[in-house]
Amino acid sequence: MLSEKLTNAINKQLNYELFSGHVYVAMASWCAANDLPGFAHFFLVQEQEERFHAMKFFNFLTEMEERPMMTGMPDPDNEYVNLVDVFEKALEHEKGVTSRIYSLMDIATEEKEYRTISMLNWFVDEQREEEDTFAGLLATVRRVEGHGNQIYHLDKELGARTFTPPTE
Ligand code: MG
Repeated sequence: MLSEKLTNAINKQLNYELFSGHVYVAMASWCAANDLPGFAHFFLVQEQEERFHAMKFFNFLTEMEERPMMTGMPDPDNEYVNLVDVFEKALEHEKGVTSRIYSLMDIATEEKEYRTISMLNWFVDEQREEEDTFAGLLATVRRVEGHGNQIYHLDKELGARTFTPPTE
């Protein structure tokens, strides 16, 4: 069992991870529509990661004998100015996720709920990687913007991304 406050906060994050997936599917769709199949693939793989994150919260709640509750989600952005805009928004989104994980950690720490703190530590590390990935790609995309040949090669490179569920 967990406190109602912590259960609700974890449940909210479970749903927000699914929303993150929704955001990345929208970005994949924009990339596909703009002849960037490798970038589209990259974002669809990212969506698989987000579902994995959501299920981690789902499994944690059920293990704690709490019931995950699915909620509705807002519309994601479907329109972007260019690839730089896509990656700026993606990085901004991940920074928002990090601050949400920190707020969850604040509640768990306040309640001295060590199982939750241990579970959240994984997400703290994961967010460092997510922000690093998107910050790196944003820098690359800024550098190659307007250079069709380099965009073509980056698109090929990102098309090779695969999803491997992390082992714990
Ligand atoms: Mg996530």
